[in-house]
Amino acid sequence: MNRPTIDWHARAAEVRPDGRCFIDGQRRDAASGETTVKRSPVDGRLLGAVARGQAADVDAAVRSARAAFDDRRWARQPPAARKKVLLRFAELVLAAREELALLETLDMGKPIAHALTVDVPATARCIAWYAEALDKRYDEIAPTAETGLALITREPVGVVGAIVPWNYPMIMAAWKIAPALAMGNSLVLKPSEKSPFTALRLAELALQAGLPAGVFNVVPGHGAEAGEALALHMDVDAIGFTGSTRTGRRMLEYAGRSNLKRVFNELGGKSAFLVFPDCADLARAAATAAGSMYFNQGESCNAPSRVLVHEAIADQFAALLAAQAPRYAPGDPLAPGTAMGAIVDEQQLRTVLGYIQAGQEQGARLLAGGRQVRLDSGGYYVEPTLFDGVHSSMRIAQEEIFGPVQAVLRFRDEAEAVRLANDTPYGLQASVWSDHLSRAHRVARALRAGTVHVNQYDEDDITVPFGGFKQSGNGRDKSMHAFDKYTELKTTWVRIDPANDGGNA
Ligand code: NAD
Repeated sequence: MNRPTIDWHARAAEVRPDGRCFIDGQRRDAASGETTVKRSPVDGRLLGAVARGQAADVDAAVRSARAAFDDRRWARQPPAARKKVLLRFAELVLAAREELALLETLDMGKPIAHALTVDVPATARCIAWYAEALDKRYDEIAPTAETGLALITREPVGVVGAIVPWNYPMIMAAWKIAPALAMGNSLVLKPSEKSPFTALRLAELALQAGLPAGVFNVVPGHGAEAGEALALHMDVDAIGFTGSTRTGRRMLEYAGRSNLKRVFNELGGKSAFLVFPDCADLARAAATAAGSMYFNQGESCNAPSRVLVHEAIADQFAALLAAQAPRYAPGDPLAPGTAMGAIVDEQQLRTVLGYIQAGQEQGARLLAGGRQVRLDSGGYYVEPTLFDGVHSSMRIAQEEIFGPVQAVLRFRDEAEAVRLANDTPYGLQASVWSDHLSRAHRVARALRAGTVHVNQYDEDDITVPFGGFKQSGNGRDKSMHAFDKYTELKTTWVRIDPANDGGNA
């Protein structure tokens, strides 16, 4: 039986999201009473008022999280009990699938079809996966002398501050909150001021699932206010940050100026997609490069924004890429068939258009797109844009644009390909396209990136780590490795005295 088609415009007209803080299990206004008006990048419609969280609100949230941690209302629960709550949390996320997807689309502009099929299921899967993983970890006993026993255990780090960006608001939040909660921490989440609504709903759903009040708090607000207050707070033990490299640098400074809290940065990227002449299926390579680039309007940290092609096939490959671009023409994000949606806000739109202009001024050749479109929609839309003739020194080859703009650079041989691929401050992802096993492995080894794909790009799973080399960050989200960020290693030495029989016969 076919499900009835949902009229997303009618649903959108009814949406009245609650933008108040979520502290100690309750909604509340910011202490100052101040709010920020949030409009949708889809069509400029008013979405609602969002609490402008500041230092006082962050302090209240941290105190709530600290109290919850200190009385161990969550951490002391047996693994099976914590697992049950988190599995229920994941179920509630799935049950709220349509509501959360619509909020995500209206808040940051992505197509509703993607929010429904990617963002919500990935969020639920992340929470469920860490729920399932939490009782499958064992601690260690070190191989020491007979008179000693050294137990090496992992303990929750305490109060975690999670600061996340706007491009995948729910998924980025889930990558922090799921492993942090699974290990028994308390947390304060600061969503981006550009997309605060789904994070606030996640905290409500977690409470509904049985998470004790105070364990998961959310303070919306601006980076320089709520974000800075959280990262400087003396009672926060660790910061899980995802965002720009510029702000990541600040996170390290805040830690240095306060309590040397642990800082785990997941930052920007300028990922390279390398195509060698021995790649047999250039059409599939081009379709993958374009699809991964324009997904989420190019607002993905791992978007393959630099395509490095051997000069012998460069004209052919650039033509294939140019032919792909129109498939991603921006459309109404609330229409189910739309492939690319709206840029998150006017500021980001200006940034993207500024880079397109810089590319042209520095001599790159525009092969596709380049313009703002859908001007009468009231939202912010940019065509999928492709530049050829790009040199590595150009701004569009060096700087993260975070919009639908892809640059083609040419190389003469493998050594130059590797040099160009590694020639940015970033090291998040890369992709190698070659049908020769040795070349693919050789190049993959030489690339300074946290993830290297071979003959594909968009494969992803919660089971594998995600994070960067160089200025793309120092932590890893997802997989069992993410537990490291939210735990402290403790060694407990016990003396075993061969002569002490405890007084018994
Ligand atoms: P951003 O750095 O501007 O903001 C990220 C978060 O930090 C937001 O919540 C913001 O309010 C807060 N913030 C901003 N300035 C702050 C300050 N001075 N003090 C404290 N907090 C502050 O980044 P963005 O524009 O929201 O997100 C885009 C960036 O995120 C891109 O660089 C992208 O590559 C990166 N990103 C990385 C990953 C990854 O896993 N490596 C994933 C998604 C996005």
